[in-house]
Amino acid sequence: MLETRNVPTHNSDQSLRYSQEQLAWLKKAKSFADRISIEDVIKADVENSFRRDLFEQACQEGLGSLPFPTTYGGSGGDYVSFCLVNEEFARRCVPIMSSLGVHVLCQEPVMRFGSEEQKQRYLLPSASGKFLAAFGLTEPNAGSDTAALETTAKLEQDAYILNGTKTFITSGASADFYIVMAKVVGEAHKPIQPRADKGTIDTITAFIVERDYPGFNIGQKFDMLGMRGYSTCELVFSDCRVPISNTLGEPGEGRKVALSSLAKGRVTIAAQATGWAQGALDALTTVLKEEISKGEIDNNLNGMASILGDMIMQVESARVLTYQAAAAIDSGDSDVTLASMAKATATDAAMKVSTDAISLISSQGLQPELLIERIFRDAKAGQIYEGTNQIQRMLIARTLLK
Ligand SMILES: Cc1cc2nc3c(=O)[nH]c(=O)nc-3n(C[C@H](O)[C@H](O)[C@H](O)COP(=O)(O)OP(=O)(O)OC[C@H]3O[C@@H](n4cnc5c(N)ncnc54)[C@H](O)[C@@H]3O)c2cc1C
Repeated sequence: MLETRNVPTHNSDQSLRYSQEQLAWLKKAKSFADRISIEDVIKADVENSFRRDLFEQACQEGLGSLPFPTTYGGSGGDYVSFCLVNEEFARRCVPIMSSLGVHVLCQEPVMRFGSEEQKQRYLLPSASGKFLAAFGLTEPNAGSDTAALETTAKLEQDAYILNGTKTFITSGASADFYIVMAKVVGEAHKPIQPRADKGTIDTITAFIVERDYPGFNIGQKFDMLGMRGYSTCELVFSDCRVPISNTLGEPGEGRKVALSSLAKGRVTIAAQATGWAQGALDALTTVLKEEISKGEIDNNLNGMASILGDMIMQVESARVLTYQAAAAIDSGDSDVTLASMAKATATDAAMKVSTDAISLISSQGLQPELLIERIFRDAKAGQIYEGTNQIQRMLIARTLLK
């Protein structure tokens, strides 16, 4: 495993920034990552296989529902701690990182909008690792534009009948339950209230779908450039019967449910991307130090200093915004614009730093053991999911014009 090598980031003085409890979570994440060999990290990527065993181990160590209250099996940690874990997991490409992030993203709406029965049924097994959760929003014809959703939910006696396809769903092929957004057609089991802001009726509704519900199937599995090993696939609903009791929130509240998850999820992605950027910088530093010690490059870094300075500033800028957004969540003042800024800044930093790291050491940077090429591939996906960075910029710009 790669270790941080004297890179002058906050890593060298963490005790000034984080509480003892937050640092204890970071220590736990480091010790978890220490137990995974680089060979296993590469294997999950090459074989595109999900490590359910590692996911369950992480849950048993309290990482699977770290930022949730102990009442429902959570660990009672704060969001800064969860971000520290994500940053560390990304820095070392721990193979369950993305699934863990999505798992927490899915528990959030159950915690906020779920009935007591739903909390008991889904949160407790999610905390223990018995259940893995996935989030089904994107469709073949509805990515950035969620209003274009085509998955329908039709009320039939005591259930909604879902039809449609969700695509690019992280953990899709391995999950036990899914938070799914669909448009109610016809009557809902309760009247849909007009949106408070616009007065219009929005029929998008959130449902909790279990893997063994009749009419639910796993579709195409994806073999992607990056974010491999996360069971990413299509979900296909063919007259899938979902009990009314599995509606999450009120009918018509689906967009609110989804946005509440994504506001925090984007901060998780920002933490992961900060870790990617740091991981690429760490590996580069290791190589450069070896080259200096062999006299292959001089202490002035053969003119590379300015690029390196930029890289360090990009990593640290990503970190500052990320933890500012995480701290806002912890103070009860969650800021969706700050989350967008952190997500776009950090994923762009990860892309740029990994690209420049490869350029500086050329073919060496393509060796899987250094993890830079892996980070380069994952960072590209990071710029796309949970809202592309173009969309984040659009959302940020809109706040200026409000
Ligand atoms: C690895 C990975 C994992 C994923 N996991 C999940 C998951 O677990 N659950 C889930 O629901 N989805 C998931 N997704 C889907 C992801 O959220 C979507 O890919 C993303 O929202 C973009 O949608 P799209 O791919 O349809 O692109 P499109 O929306 O078609 O966008 C194409 C391009 O047009 C740009 N664009 C679109 N609209 C505008 C606009 N109004 N203004 C300016 N530019 C615009 C976009 O920025 C982009 O560059 C995942 C995707 C990936 C790659």
